[in-house]
Amino acid sequence: MTRPMIEVEVTVRGMTCDSCRRYVEESLRGVPGVDSVQVANWQDGRALVVAHRNVSGKDLVQAVEKAGYSAEILDRRTIEKAEPAARRHDYDLVIVGGGSAAFAAALRASELGAHAVIINDGLPIGGTCVNVGCVPSKTLIRAAEELHRASHPRFHGVRAAAGVSDPAALFEQKRELVNELREKKYVDIVSGDSNVTLLEGHGRVTGQHTVEVNGRGISARRILVATGASPFVPDIPGMAESGYLTNETAYELNEIPEKLIVLGGRYIALETAQMFARLGSRVTVLQRSERILPNESEELTEALAGYLRKEGIEIRTGVQIESVAREEKTVRVKARINGISETIEGSHVFVATGRRGNASGLGLEEVGVAVGSDGYLPVDEFLRTSSSSIFGAGDVIGSPMFVYTAAYEGALAAENALAGDRMSARDYAALPWVIFTDPQVAGVGLDEKQAREKGIDVDASVLPMDLLPRALAAFDTRGFIKLVRNTATDRLVGARVLAPEGGELLMELSLAIRYEITVSDLAARFHPYLTLSEAVKLAAIGFTRDVKTLSCCAG
Ligand SMILES: Cc1cc2nc3c(=O)[nH]c(=O)nc-3n(C[C@H](O)[C@H](O)[C@H](O)COP(=O)(O)OP(=O)(O)OC[C@H]3O[C@@H](n4cnc5c(N)ncnc54)[C@H](O)[C@@H]3O)c2cc1C
Repeated sequence: MTRPMIEVEVTVRGMTCDSCRRYVEESLRGVPGVDSVQVANWQDGRALVVAHRNVSGKDLVQAVEKAGYSAEILDRRTIEKAEPAARRHDYDLVIVGGGSAAFAAALRASELGAHAVIINDGLPIGGTCVNVGCVPSKTLIRAAEELHRASHPRFHGVRAAAGVSDPAALFEQKRELVNELREKKYVDIVSGDSNVTLLEGHGRVTGQHTVEVNGRGISARRILVATGASPFVPDIPGMAESGYLTNETAYELNEIPEKLIVLGGRYIALETAQMFARLGSRVTVLQRSERILPNESEELTEALAGYLRKEGIEIRTGVQIESVAREEKTVRVKARINGISETIEGSHVFVATGRRGNASGLGLEEVGVAVGSDGYLPVDEFLRTSSSSIFGAGDVIGSPMFVYTAAYEGALAAENALAGDRMSARDYAALPWVIFTDPQVAGVGLDEKQAREKGIDVDASVLPMDLLPRALAAFDTRGFIKLVRNTATDRLVGARVLAPEGGELLMELSLAIRYEITVSDLAARFHPYLTLSEAVKLAAIGFTRDVKTLSCCAG
């Protein structure tokens, strides 16, 4: 069944950010008779409105103007619109998984006037980030950092006095925050939204438009798989019997492990290793590769390893684990380390040897959707799987695996799934990322090696933190900032930071890459004296001058 409607293309002027886009959409949606509105992005300056035939162009222009922008009708045509999908299907969008990607997708679908259902099982609602990832880890990391600073004062005449007096209380405080954020940022956000339904149960895809949950079939115009990823635990003899921790259990301990053996040397392993070491554990990191963070440059990872070792963390690389065995409270990890057999003893083992996508066993293969052997779900640039009605978003589709990219993909997948043939491709240009060790490791764009592999002629400027007034005043000069520029255009192509709170520097650099700002321009901008951001200015100046010869305030 179809009904005659109008499709109106409106040019909108004055939008400068994503909030403007939402504001314009909301204003247009508020016009009586409007069925759906889509403003793909604010840069485009275009809104597509589907409305009943009695809606006039003037109504739409006035709504945009009332919101503070100007508008003009570009095109108006009559279309035959299918009867609302909910009449043919139970929902417009069924989302399997209930993490950040799923919530962003459901909210975007609702904004588009569609009905979505989120089906979650396994982790509590909210998924990895709020329950067993970002929030608990960063809360405990912050606590450990405060403790470390208080017990290692850098200033003369300041007495060190800090320790963990009540580990259970610390874990409980973290738990309360997790519970609060889960309610406020997930459950409450959709509970007042009549377009979004939350269901608890294991979702299984049974057809191109159908999902089964709790023995009940649900049909939808489109399916979104947003089931996330899980810790990958290698098949090592004795591991399962000996017991081990992962990110799903380690932040739930009510005690500080006496001696923690960390398997892995990437971000989850290193953040957790340093956090427990600072809270009082003796920690050994066992990493298979020759370096921790093997994808980053040697100068960066060697410097980080040095800082971690200085805090007492033992870091072993070139490790091949052979077996794990437990005898009462002692766990023994047998390994070949650079060819020599050794046994490392501890009280607990924390496994952070990678993640696996949660796309296997969902029924996807049975309905003809390809799934990778590592459990990840292949999708195209529009986040479509090999089926045109089934989309994927978040950790389940693989790298990049951050909560902000999961949310971005969720919203984009919902738009693309519901938009018919007007789909937008995903765009990760100038994607910033942070590893929350101390000093933090942060990056955006390309490192020198990556740029040269892409055939870009680049040079780099490295500013050691002992040339930064902020770091000198803090008596904490760990790390450096490196800017990489295209030598032909002077434009920034990437940056790497190793510095306390270094992640805070990234957004200036990300915007510089995105909006093609030259390094000379960055060097010429005011950066307040004694801020961390001065590092950007000094590193930019470093392309043409020796920063050591400058007077105060880069003069
Ligand atoms: C220790 C750790 C620290 C992290 N720290 C950060 C950080 O600081 N910053 C950052 O940006 N990112 C961080 N991340 C990454 C971030 O948590 C993830 O990228 C993000 O949570 C992924 O969201 P998602 O919605 O794709 O998946 P998830 O949040 O994992 O959600 C998927 C949900 O689907 C459920 N599910 C699975 N199968 C089914 C099924 N068949 N039926 C129903 N439900 C199902 C799962 O149980 C889960 O609840 C961290 C991750 C970890 C592990």
